[in-house]
Amino acid sequence: MKLVLLGPPGAGKGTQAVLLAEHFGGPHISTGDILRRHVAEKTDLGKKAEKYIREGKLVPDDLVIEMVRTRLRQKDARKGFILDGFPRNREQATALDGMTKVDAALLLFLDPEDLIKRSTGRRVCENCEAVYHLLTNPPKKPGFCDRCHSKLIVREDDREETVRRRIEVYEEQTKPLVSYYKTKGLLVQVYGSGIIDEIFERVIEALSQRKR
Ligand code: AMP
Repeated sequence: MKLVLLGPPGAGKGTQAVLLAEHFGGPHISTGDILRRHVAEKTDLGKKAEKYIREGKLVPDDLVIEMVRTRLRQKDARKGFILDGFPRNREQATALDGMTKVDAALLLFLDPEDLIKRSTGRRVCENCEAVYHLLTNPPKKPGFCDRCHSKLIVREDDREETVRRRIEVYEEQTKPLVSYYKTKGLLVQVYGSGIIDEIFERVIEALSQRKR
């Protein structure tokens, strides 16, 4: 399954992507995670990307497109992948079409008033990047990762002001991709509110209906 995930920040794309990757057996490719790793490791790409990420803006297309092209060439991504956070605009979507043919674009949508609440409750593990949410997916021991027991932190770009900016960027640049994939007959839409396992069931059901 070559799947693209669409949806505003806070819609639960990362969480569903992990489950989908387990289910279908391909890698979960999160451009946000890859970029943050570059920033942490202070690579050339990381140095260029840092200020955009901090401000909730898109990292320039040429940088991100090349990064994804390299990642999709790796062996584990040949048969399938879950692409989370890419494409983010029309230019990236066209570039992706030139790299491979995706099977579906899954849109996780939410009520607008849920968005800020969801994004600002997110906590991530400073060590293994596992994602939690104070409301929908709290860790067993408050403040610590269930998997590796390291400290949970608020991502710098999850501060409220940055979240608002990221939602604006989504509305302006990424939302038009919903009709882009709809026109191609690839769009699958799922309501992203509720319990994680229930949302996942809805996702699998919606994807299997598409195939019939
Ligand atoms: P995410 O974890 O997907 O919310 O991404 C966090 C930040 O990384 C975004 O706010 C952007 O600054 C940057 N980013 C991630 N994916 C992309 C992309 N496809 N194009 C441009 N910037 C991106």
